[in-house]
Amino acid sequence: VFQLVAHFIYKKMNYDVNKVWHNVDGDAAVKLLESDAQRGISTEEAHERLQQFGPNVLSAKKGKGPLLRLLLQFHQPLVYILIAAVVVTGFLGEWVDSGVIFAVVLINAIVGFLQESKALKALDALAKVMQANARVLRSGKMREIGADNLVPGDIVLLQSGEKVPADIRLIHEHELRVDESALTGESVPIEKKLDVLEEEVILADRKNMVFASTLVTYGQCRGVVVGTGSQTEIGQISKLVSEAEELATPLSRKISQFSGVLLYVIIALALVTFFAGLYRGHPVEETFIAAVALAVAAIPEGLPAAFTIILAIGVSRMAKRNAIIRKLPAVETLGSTTVVCSDKTGTLTVNKMTVQEIAAGGERFNVDGVGYQPHGQFFSSGGEAITELSESLRQCLLAGLLCNDSVLVKEKDIWDVTGDPTEGALIVSARKAGLVEERESDRFPRLDSVPFESEHQYMATLHKAEEGGPRQVYIKGSVEAILTRCSYMLNAQGDQIPCDSERVLQDVHSMAQGGMRVLAFARLEVDADVMKLTHSHISKGLTFLGIQGMIDPPRQAAIDAIKACYNAGIKVKMITGDHAITAAAISRQMNLDGSNSAEFPGVLTGREMVALSDQKLTDQIENVAVFARVAPEQKLRLVRALQEQGHVIAMTGDGVNDAPALRQADLGVAMGLGGTEVAKEAADMVLTDDNFATIKAAVEEGRCVFDNLTKFIVWTLPTNMGEGLVVLWAIFAGLTLPVLPIHILWINMSTALLLGLMLAFERKENNIMHRPPRNPKAPIITRPFVLRIVMVALMMTVAAFVLFQWELNRSGDTDVARTVAVNVVVFVELFYLFNCRSLNHSFFSLGFFSNRLLLGGVAGMISLQLLFTYMPLANRLFHTAPISPHAWLLILGVGLSVFVIVSIEKWIQRSFFDAK
Ligand code: ADP
Ligand code: MG
Repeated sequence: VFQLVAHFIYKKMNYDVNKVWHNVDGDAAVKLLESDAQRGISTEEAHERLQQFGPNVLSAKKGKGPLLRLLLQFHQPLVYILIAAVVVTGFLGEWVDSGVIFAVVLINAIVGFLQESKALKALDALAKVMQANARVLRSGKMREIGADNLVPGDIVLLQSGEKVPADIRLIHEHELRVDESALTGESVPIEKKLDVLEEEVILADRKNMVFASTLVTYGQCRGVVVGTGSQTEIGQISKLVSEAEELATPLSRKISQFSGVLLYVIIALALVTFFAGLYRGHPVEETFIAAVALAVAAIPEGLPAAFTIILAIGVSRMAKRNAIIRKLPAVETLGSTTVVCSDKTGTLTVNKMTVQEIAAGGERFNVDGVGYQPHGQFFSSGGEAITELSESLRQCLLAGLLCNDSVLVKEKDIWDVTGDPTEGALIVSARKAGLVEERESDRFPRLDSVPFESEHQYMATLHKAEEGGPRQVYIKGSVEAILTRCSYMLNAQGDQIPCDSERVLQDVHSMAQGGMRVLAFARLEVDADVMKLTHSHISKGLTFLGIQGMIDPPRQAAIDAIKACYNAGIKVKMITGDHAITAAAISRQMNLDGSNSAEFPGVLTGREMVALSDQKLTDQIENVAVFARVAPEQKLRLVRALQEQGHVIAMTGDGVNDAPALRQADLGVAMGLGGTEVAKEAADMVLTDDNFATIKAAVEEGRCVFDNLTKFIVWTLPTNMGEGLVVLWAIFAGLTLPVLPIHILWINMSTALLLGLMLAFERKENNIMHRPPRNPKAPIITRPFVLRIVMVALMMTVAAFVLFQWELNRSGDTDVARTVAVNVVVFVELFYLFNCRSLNHSFFSLGFFSNRLLLGGVAGMISLQLLFTYMPLANRLFHTAPISPHAWLLILGVGLSVFVIVSIEKWIQRSFFDAK
């Protein structure tokens, strides 16, 4: 109805879906789409078009439909066995048994289905968090909108690192290169051109267009949206890039492999049992049931489901702590991480820059004021307030103001920066001296620019000075990048004198030692006919204007997190494009790897790295904590060298050039706030707050996932073993079966759900960050756990058997005796569950109420057992019977004994075998 109304209210735009846009001139395309290259479409028009064309989203890739997923629940070896049991018991006329087993199969499938759906939903929600934005011109203003609001005719601006949000005909480009592998499979970035192309040109060669879901790896562009949503090329082939996640990780694959092998063993064992029984002259029917019981007992059917749930809970806990998992195996990697390589700026530091010191014209100045608030004063090195700016100081500040792409904004009395904080600080320092952006950019309009790229370490802008006069280029960047290009410098009066690099480097050194980030400034006059600025214009002969030193305080949370990482056996290394001395100073402020001690391992710079062979780098890398002036490309070498040393490494990154290192690292971590789409796409995990402390939080959760998984396994296996042994014993000893297949099904299903799964909600153990990382090659179940599993299994077997025989001798009633045996198994599991809440610590150190869900599950389980034992319907279905208080006393006694014995065993492990 809404669409229909919209249809009549809004005039429709004439839009030719089949228009061949690469065959049309850029400006013509803008006209055809009733847009304006300078102003874009109006906000109202955009609203109307959104009604007409719908949101710019791709319909999600069809994952497995619910029905298929439900059916797949039956596609499990255990279920095959059970279905065989249903059929055979049916043939034998055991309708009740057949029905109960069938019901169990059904319930099992439904529960599995629901659990899986829940886990999938949790992961889906995460994908949505990662919605991209787009910069568009609307009503003449540039604004950032959600990419889903784009409509045909929108003028979009793109730059390196961004994901193309729709199909776009280019109208302006600057050295644009686009990675179209998502669409065409071509992995080499394509250089784009504006020229009109032949109609027949294939998709991969349509160089005057960019397509939705591809990535801008270099340069900038502006273009008009010609297709959104399903009208885009990627929408047409409906090959959605959004990774519909499989619920699989290396570990889950290992577990299902293990289950596969186990299955054959168990089936073989069941067959042997069957024929052994026949050989001994037991009736076929009974032997068959025993064989089924064995198979059902021994297969740990709850394991895969428990694994999925534990993983999903881990992922959502991480999300709550600002770490978004993009690739599920990352959860596992987190638990084994041994080295974290972190960016300095913004991740270890707060990324709120404030200029505090300036050196220009041979003089030093201090600046006061806090944050981005543009109020403050300048002081000479003698401490007097400055009332009149010297010409060289003015030029230095002006360069910082004009050679700048960021904006200072005031929102609700709070000053902030949109863009690069480094640049924000420069606007603020200029404002403090009375230089205002608008006024200066009116006087010196910008004609062109060379944007900042980490590998060049500078940015330059070309400005018109006076009509017909020479043009001015302002450059800012790292001291190394600028100073080598300078031939002159300004003295205090603003006269050009030969450049004295020694003097400048002294100033730089003293600022950097205080942890300041130092930027250098220069200018150059060029001829009046220069319209485009290139790197070659500014390769030499510049006039040095001065330096500005800004502080960027460390994040307190990051300092704490670094300490926590050391306690957890994880090394932290700082990687930065910043100056070596600055980086070292910050690393000292953050207590990075003993940086306060005499044997501080020191700093390796990018230039030194180049000189090192791969082998030398690998040898030295352990001892280096700070990598300074590192180009993004060098990060890849760092990752490789560390991996060579056997480390599991987490590497942060935000830029386009970080992508290869993020992919190579065991755990690529991208920045959610300041990171490019390219980096996010390559990463395994995204930090929504860009904070180092979040990595530590994620590691903690990753370790918790492992713990809880291990707890579940250590808890569940004794039951499988115990039940299996009971059955084997009975058959080979020629005794009555103490538990029937349906009993075993009952036990396995109800306890896995009500008891075992509750371990997934177990909180992190206190010592979780006080032990070394997990060796990814180590088995999950180490020797002490194997011992414990066998011990509990044996206690369970013996107790079930003995109490079964005791009851049988006493009352002579098999049903009563079997009910006792079932309760023994369940209550041993129940008491043992409390042991399993921690793998090594005593139950009493955890606090009885610290996992309330588990207590709820225990209460539920006890109620179920009472129904199972006393309800007439249950008695009929499961062949059970009420049991005596005396029996209960024995059952509880057995359970308690197991609890006590395991507690003692844990105590011995802790005291004598140093188990942590
Ligand atoms: P990081 O983010 O690790 O601190 P970057 O690669 O961003 O390192 O910066 C490296 C150097 O480039 C900085 O130390 C600074 O001198 C210079 N720089 C940083 N940002 C800018 C910018 N916007 N314009 C010019 N130069 C910059
Ligand atoms: Mg940076």
